[in-house]
Amino acid sequence: MSGGVLPGGWFDADGRLHRDFELAVLTGREEELLTQARHPRPAALVTEVLSRCVRRIGEVSPVPPEVARKLLVADRLHLLLQLRQATFGDRVRATLVCPWPGCGAQVSLEFSLADVPVQAATLPGRWHTMTLHDGREVVFRLVTGADQEELATLAEENEGAALTALLTRCVRRLGDDEQPGEDTVAALPARARAEIEERMREVSPSVAQTMDARCTECGRAFTVPFDVQRFFLGELRTDGARLYQEIHYLAYHYHWSETEIMAMTRDKRQRYIDVLADAIGALNDAG
Ligand SMILES: [Zn+2]
Repeated sequence: MSGGVLPGGWFDADGRLHRDFELAVLTGREEELLTQARHPRPAALVTEVLSRCVRRIGEVSPVPPEVARKLLVADRLHLLLQLRQATFGDRVRATLVCPWPGCGAQVSLEFSLADVPVQAATLPGRWHTMTLHDGREVVFRLVTGADQEELATLAEENEGAALTALLTRCVRRLGDDEQPGEDTVAALPARARAEIEERMREVSPSVAQTMDARCTECGRAFTVPFDVQRFFLGELRTDGARLYQEIHYLAYHYHWSETEIMAMTRDKRQRYIDVLADAIGALNDAG
């Protein structure tokens, strides 16, 4: 079990902030869930994984899907990074191509997840208040996993409409207008909209989703996008074939049930497989 403190935190119905957390590592069951065919809504998959693996947030334990869903985006990313760290370790390795014109050399990038910059919320609160340049007051909340889940399909079809819908979901009051509708938000002047988005960024906790790299060939620096959610889901998905191979191997040699094997972590499966490989190797040597 590992733990930490959320960069944002979760507010319950009484307005109390829950911020420290404990999580368990992924078992074969979660790996299987993640290896299932292309999920149409990755945010929904993240909700499911988090509600299974996060054991406690503040005084909330277990963590039901509706809480995992309503966590701030940065909190969800932070938990995914912690989960990856606890289950598979801290190092990330990648090979990329230097983007500088005239170079294009292959560069290996290696970094530690502990070094991914995390910005904690400076003013934790469920609601934030600001004043626009025209004097109107705006009350808003920050973007959660629930927003991502709800707007995933629209975002693919029409990004502009998805952004307006997102803002409508997050803005609770606009001047005298309680619960402004989508038409009101869509009609906001560009300047007002930019002001709200800017303020949202300022008060929002964040997990950096870019890494700095330097080309070993030409020596120039560049920035690499590091999409935490895609990285986490992609890394596990590619291992689907291996998961089933390991289950088969352990079931065949130890006669354990699939349920028993699926409850193990990848580390534990690996240790049993190593022991088996050693034993089989010794048998072969003796023969
Ligand atoms: Zn280069």
